[in-house]
Amino acid sequence: MLELSTPVQYVKGVGPRIAEILAAKGIRTVGDLLHYLPFRYEDRLNPRGIGELRPGEMATVIGEVRNSGLFRTRRMPIFQLTVGQGRARLRCLWFHATYLQDKFKPGQMIALYGKVEEDQRSRELQIVQPQFEVLGDPADGGEDGAEKKAAESLEIGRIVPIYESTGQGRLTPRWFRRAIRTALDNLTPELPEVIPAAVRGRLGLVGPRAALWSVHWPEPGESFQDLQSFRTPAHIRLIFDELFFMELGLELKRRQQKAQTGIAFRLDERVRAAIKKILPFHPTAAQKRVLKEIAADMEKPYPMRRLLQGDVGSGKTIVGFEAAIIAIENGCQAALMAPTEILAQQHYFFARRILENAGYRIVLLTGSLEADRKREIRRHIAQGNAQLVIGTHALLEEKVEFANLGLVIVDEQHRFGVMQRLKLMKKSGDVEGSGRAALGPSGSEIPPHTKAAGSETGAAEPDVLVMTATPIPRTLALTLYGDLDLSVLDELPPGRSPIATRCVPDDRSPEVWEFVRKQVSGGHQVYVVYPVISESEEGELKAAIKMYRELSGHVFADLKVGLLHGRLDAELKDQVMRLFQKGELQILVATTVIEVGVDVPNATVMVIEHAERFGLAQLHQLRGRIGRGAAKSYCILMTGGKVTEEGQRRLDAMVRTNDGFQIAELDLELRGPGEFFGTRQAGLPSFRVANIIRDAQLLELAKREAAAVLAGPNSEISSEEISRALVQMRARWQHTYGLVEVG
Ligand code: ADP
Ligand code: MG
Repeated sequence: MLELSTPVQYVKGVGPRIAEILAAKGIRTVGDLLHYLPFRYEDRLNPRGIGELRPGEMATVIGEVRNSGLFRTRRMPIFQLTVGQGRARLRCLWFHATYLQDKFKPGQMIALYGKVEEDQRSRELQIVQPQFEVLGDPADGGEDGAEKKAAESLEIGRIVPIYESTGQGRLTPRWFRRAIRTALDNLTPELPEVIPAAVRGRLGLVGPRAALWSVHWPEPGESFQDLQSFRTPAHIRLIFDELFFMELGLELKRRQQKAQTGIAFRLDERVRAAIKKILPFHPTAAQKRVLKEIAADMEKPYPMRRLLQGDVGSGKTIVGFEAAIIAIENGCQAALMAPTEILAQQHYFFARRILENAGYRIVLLTGSLEADRKREIRRHIAQGNAQLVIGTHALLEEKVEFANLGLVIVDEQHRFGVMQRLKLMKKSGDVEGSGRAALGPSGSEIPPHTKAAGSETGAAEPDVLVMTATPIPRTLALTLYGDLDLSVLDELPPGRSPIATRCVPDDRSPEVWEFVRKQVSGGHQVYVVYPVISESEEGELKAAIKMYRELSGHVFADLKVGLLHGRLDAELKDQVMRLFQKGELQILVATTVIEVGVDVPNATVMVIEHAERFGLAQLHQLRGRIGRGAAKSYCILMTGGKVTEEGQRRLDAMVRTNDGFQIAELDLELRGPGEFFGTRQAGLPSFRVANIIRDAQLLELAKREAAAVLAGPNSEISSEEISRALVQMRARWQHTYGLVEVG
């Protein structure tokens, strides 16, 4: 008998070699194999008659091979196959398919799947490039008699699961069908039910064994449409399973965090007055609401873990500074970490402008400072002289110790790498049992669990506020940051008029430059962005350095033009940025170094060359550099050369909307969740069967149910069930949630 945890190589027909191929797909156990779901199904119980096919439909056809052959046109070799059902015939074509030459023999039965089309000349129906499977062909090893018959019955006369083949085509859909069938036939009858009974009852979930069977071998009466859309009861059960245990883990982590000792900051009239004093403008209603949410967290005796989401330009920075004042007025230090030096610099200048008059002591710590200077600043931090510490990830270095850190703010969190995020969380004491040398209170050797409860600020975990402009669609925020509380800035500061966005081919650049010149003479400033720094990087693309020469030397020879890219040394970068901020440069030629955070309200034009080469999120971030003041702003997307279909969709979206959420949704759709977050490991859990876009509703359901399960003494669920569920959760999600303690 096989258990779900049995290594996959004990399934008959899977040896060590195949096990290796499977392992590359993440399939290591019998359970993994059984959760390798068909990506579609073919109805071979009621296959279509050739005579009833209509152009435009996707169809499964089963027929007999009549003849086949390769012919060469001037452009390419084409393989043609004719299948028949009685007298009816259907033609199939594959382009460039010399490899099919000896594949078919007349008389073979074959199943085909593809889009039915009408041949333009002959008006006959055909299928171009169909997927196919030769039926009853003992290609996968010599079967005979009864065994062959049994195998055949997996291929025809029923709804047949189609799996993605793998191992360079060595493991075909048919291979999976047989292996999975064998695994199911030998699966232990005692598959434990891991979802608590109350949840199962509420949702009417089918049992795990039945679910596994019918997701691979649907009953004849099953709705074909539900199958194709992963919405049969069996699908729902398996998807829910996975989401439920993930949400349980997140919910648990949340509760654990709330159980830790934090700092209960006081928010009295004095502190309120201090905040008011620094404000350079009236906060928007959204900013007020969000600050209230943050302040309420900070007053609580457990550590804050809050994500502040707000589209570009929504005014996150000032909210962060307000929170910092609360910490500082309570005698603690606050740290603000930014993903780039440029941004850290900018925050530093802004902080000095609004905070220094009020007597606060602010330092900037970035990687490019000289060693001496760094050492001196570190000393200020360690002695508690520095009240607000602004920096890049240099703040994460081991040697930085705080006297009394109360609040950590991470700006543009999505820009930090995975490792940095983990490290930061660790340093701020988020992860259980981690060493908390750096961002922790200095010299604290006390393990988090033995901290004196209710002690003063000294031994408590600092609060953490994470800010991001990536408008993560709600469903994703729920999975990715389910352990954080969420605040949303959904309002722009007053007086902004929507940015007008146009898309033009770069042969119209003279008009664009003319427009730029007009804006400059109106007193405004302009960004011109290029995809690469120098030509050598990617053959055809215009490069910042070269175009800087062209623009500053010829087109705008009479204007002040600056150049900014990542390879300039830090001091020069800083200088250029400062000149632009002060309005002493009118045009800034740049790469995407200016992508995040940069705030120059007087800049009203963003020209992006080779806009087709940028990702959607990136375009939106870049555009977010303008439209920050009262004057009307313009974003001009110039295209050079070929634009792919997907590229065109990105550009269209930019022209159509300014709404970061809409853009993020489309981006997610175009790129998929893995890419959307940069790397596969960007904290996104890897699912076996769930897809957070397709299964968004089930995700919300799973979250609710997970919270209900842990809801406390009144819950209808036995503690035994809970602990069984937690053990499950741990087994499945430990790699994702690291050190979540169970039980
Ligand atoms: P982001 O959310 O992109 O970080 P910023 O914090 O940089 O946005 O704010 C964008 C611009 O709007 C800045 O110039 C900031 O000073 C200004 N700003 C923020 N809040 C307000 C407000 N309530 N009223 C007027 N201007 C504001
Ligand atoms: Mg910002």
